[in-house]
Amino acid sequence: MKISEKGQALLAKYKKFQKLDIFLLALAALSFVFLHNLILMIAIVVFTFVLETKIYVCPHCKKTLDCRKRIQEDTCCPRCKKYMFKDLD
Ligand SMILES: [Zn+2]
Repeated sequence: MKISEKGQALLAKYKKFQKLDIFLLALAALSFVFLHNLILMIAIVVFTFVLETKIYVCPHCKKTLDCRKRIQEDTCCPRCKKYMFKDLD
């Protein structure tokens, strides 16, 4: 499927965000395992969750998406059923 430049940019941004998300959750786990710091762990998890709801949203309906799911050019939004990276203009 062909997607616009805007769609490409958004897809790249979301993929980057998925990596950041995994990194933050790993950091949360590490802070609990090695630092025994439950507060820090919760703080990082909450921060990650807030980032997800602010950034990781469908460009059409603005609903938060599942960050753990794989995304590609023809991924559809589970809520509004539109192609996420198509018809963005
Ligand atoms: Zn949607």
